[in-house]
Amino acid sequence: MNKTASSVWTECLSFIEDNIKQQAYKTWFEPIKPIKLSGEALTIQVPSKFFYEWLEEHYIKLLRVALVKQLGEDAKLIYDVRMENNYSSNNPHTVKIPSSNRNPITPQGVAFPLDINKRELKNPFIIPGIQKVKIESQLNPNYNFESFVEGDSNRLARSAGMAVANKPGGTSFNPLLIYGGVGLGKTHIAHAIGVEIKDKYPDKTVLYISSEKFTQQYIDSVKGNTRNDFIHFYQMIDVLIIDDVQFLSGKTGTQDVFFHIFNHLHQNGKQVILTSDKAPVDMQDIEQRLLSRFKWGLSAELQAPDYETRVSILQNKLYRDGVEMPEEIVEYIAKNIKSNVRELEGVLISMIAQASFNRKEFTLALTKQIVDKFVKNTKREVSIDYIQKIVSNYFELDVATLQSKTRKRHIVQARQLAMYFAKRMTKASLASIGSQIGKRDHATVLHACKTVDNLTETDKQFRKYVDDLTKKLTF
Ligand code: ADP
Ligand code: MG
Repeated sequence: MNKTASSVWTECLSFIEDNIKQQAYKTWFEPIKPIKLSGEALTIQVPSKFFYEWLEEHYIKLLRVALVKQLGEDAKLIYDVRMENNYSSNNPHTVKIPSSNRNPITPQGVAFPLDINKRELKNPFIIPGIQKVKIESQLNPNYNFESFVEGDSNRLARSAGMAVANKPGGTSFNPLLIYGGVGLGKTHIAHAIGVEIKDKYPDKTVLYISSEKFTQQYIDSVKGNTRNDFIHFYQMIDVLIIDDVQFLSGKTGTQDVFFHIFNHLHQNGKQVILTSDKAPVDMQDIEQRLLSRFKWGLSAELQAPDYETRVSILQNKLYRDGVEMPEEIVEYIAKNIKSNVRELEGVLISMIAQASFNRKEFTLALTKQIVDKFVKNTKREVSIDYIQKIVSNYFELDVATLQSKTRKRHIVQARQLAMYFAKRMTKASLASIGSQIGKRDHATVLHACKTVDNLTETDKQFRKYVDDLTKKLTF
């Protein structure tokens, strides 16, 4: 059978569909059209430059695997990016795509201490075979300060980040800890600081790494008996950026090794930048000595952007994508998507995809439809009151009894379960959970969470309570 662009793409799609979430598949792959197949090169049409960047950033590995399956090792993918502006029929054709003006970040040279130079270093960021070891910074140049819209919600974090970028290791913001809820720009700012430092100080060694990857590398190093190499490697970095440190909670080995790396870097005037979804006071199962280090520098919170900032963020994205959209539509989106910049972007991307491939205009009706879908998909956040009600009902108590000072075992357990679910299902801090559930302090809540974790593992009946309540609270 002769392969055509469309037969190859159909096969790729069925593979891709099996490997990613349905929503992502719908948003990113359904709108793509296969255009041409010549030899091993498949050309696909994507609705916009932003779309193309997104695919490159998030799905390139998957695309490559899918293509290689169809076309062999030499498979090539070519994007045909649609630039014509037919989103709005009464608008003339205008495309405004600013150049990012950024060069790819080049690997950084580092002279290794002699003794470990002899051995093979098992660090995935090291490109082997070169005398002077090169370290990839793992920075994403698109996440820079120019593309990060300033607003009241992020001013402190942004300016602290800038200050650090101007003088890495030379400010009192060491470590700089940026914390806040999901999708508010923590990862973006963390990269932006690194990117800015590489611009200003090309000789500095900057490394961005997620806590997950860091943990995995550490575990591998222990298995492979290269723990010291691991530590040495990180101690050579000038600017170490670790994303989502809440992930280290409960991982004592990794915390321990990070503690040593941190101390070494700090003592040598190197910069450490961390992000977390919580403030240090609310972090669970992180060693005290590490928490106290986190507090040495500056903790800056990223809050949910206000309405004006949301509008600016949307306009900024549209501008970068070369798309024009009526003002009332931008305002509608900004009014209805409030708590998460990633969702704000998601709506925009869905709209661009829908409008350009169905040759629809950006209408308010289309916008409402898409915004509705996003709002529905967002996990409903339950309140602490609601949790107390459900837990009390389940144990046939009233809420006042649940909150009372009684030490009766079954009531204590109910109270602990309420605290546990409040921690798991809301963004409230330990202190605020404690004060809402019978005026307890944060240590009591922390103890409750640990007790529930332990009992769930050891006590079958208790495990059933947790499962039943989870179902009731999430439907
Ligand atoms: P987090 O790490 O806090 O979950 P991210 O840094 O991944 O959030 O941000 C989610 C998305 O929102 C990213 O695409 C990011 O570029 C974008 N974003 C967040 N804040 C801003 C902002 N102030 N200006 C422009 N884009 C932003
Ligand atoms: Mg992040």
